[in-house]
Amino acid sequence: MRASAYPLVEVDDAAARVLDHTPVLGIERVALAHCIGRVLAEDLAAPVSLPRLPSSAVDGYAVRAADAGKALRVLGESAAGRPFAGTIEPGTAARILTGGVLPDGADCVVMVEDVRLAGDVVTTPAPLQVGSNFHRPGADLRAGELVVAAGTQLGAAEVGLAAALGFPRLPVRRRPRVALMSTGDELVEVGEKAGRGQIFDSNRWALLAALREVGVEVRGLGIAPDQPEALRRLVVDALREVDVLVTSGGVSVGTHDLVKPLLESLGTVHVGRVKLKPGKPFTFATIPAVLPANALPPEGGRGQLKLAFGLPGFPVSSLVTFEVFVRPALRKMQGFTNLRRPTLPVRLAYDARATADRTEYQRVTLRRDGHELVAETTGSQTSSRLMSLAGAHALVRIPPGDQGIKAGSIVEALILSLP
Ligand code: AMP
Ligand code: MG
Repeated sequence: MRASAYPLVEVDDAAARVLDHTPVLGIERVALAHCIGRVLAEDLAAPVSLPRLPSSAVDGYAVRAADAGKALRVLGESAAGRPFAGTIEPGTAARILTGGVLPDGADCVVMVEDVRLAGDVVTTPAPLQVGSNFHRPGADLRAGELVVAAGTQLGAAEVGLAAALGFPRLPVRRRPRVALMSTGDELVEVGEKAGRGQIFDSNRWALLAALREVGVEVRGLGIAPDQPEALRRLVVDALREVDVLVTSGGVSVGTHDLVKPLLESLGTVHVGRVKLKPGKPFTFATIPAVLPANALPPEGGRGQLKLAFGLPGFPVSSLVTFEVFVRPALRKMQGFTNLRRPTLPVRLAYDARATADRTEYQRVTLRRDGHELVAETTGSQTSSRLMSLAGAHALVRIPPGDQGIKAGSIVEALILSLP
């Protein structure tokens, strides 16, 4: 064992360094079918008003309000998609169906329930209100109006609006391509036989799930051995094709921990250790892309840097550091403006012990008690114990020191899900 040369960085400082080096990716035009969950890259303004033409809200008769109480001759019909071509003169009406265009000359629609019909003569009630029972042009949306602002995540309603306005595709931020690799000679692929001293690679599956939740494209690179040359080849090959590399294991100070020196030889290590529990060996580096000689540098030159996250091997450490450092960065790349999970005040139901020199993220379950959320520990917080994270609703942040926080105190919790 040797001492680490990397300074211990405060959690917030480390998170800021990661985001400072994280670019927002470029724009691509994507068909509506694939827009759900993506972040709009440019303001979307309405090219037309909605509805474009006055459109009936009911089934009934299009008439002039001045003809209230009169018997009117029915000239024809305006159905959805089949407008009436003529004009409603005094003393006449047209049958109209929901979504039908209000004919010229008419200024209101009378509901079918409110008229008397005899042959082609309809008698309207009195009085009638000009403008009743139809949607005016622009009532829903006016031409030129801002419909969806850049930076908005597209949901069902936004996709529907885009379609209603005639946009078959939308400009969205590109999603990062991420290569995911586990390192360690003790690891075997789940499904294979684990020999003595071997364990199943679980981090890759946990991190794959976490990456999917953030909405990125993942390239699984399997398990890399604790051999410098093999590891280097895998990493260099991967970095040619992705924006981000995420590894787990191989970042502590044992002799087989090869990730830090490798990242250092390829680029710049900005964070090599963090005052965080779990997750002290978390490593973040940027690596210049090796471009073919004739390639043009990407827009703004920013795309040239690749991000590399060396997550610790212990399963809880890898997921907590993913949550605290990697997830916000992957959201920034996709154009999100709110990068972090929401926080809420919660009341501790247990005495939270602190670590002297590191901020702790303790895993808790939440329950509702009146208007409050009460946090209960998930038990032993050892970084190998994935059960401490399974079913956890939140991470509570316990500042360093020797005091800890007493049961009954209110603390901020990073909310993963609400009960
Ligand atoms: P390391 O950071 O490589 O020293 O790993 C620390 C510990 O984390 C190892 O001793 C393993 O028990 C565990 N570990 C590392 N990688 C994985 C993995 N991919 N899946 C499950 N456990 C792992
Ligand atoms: Mg290892």
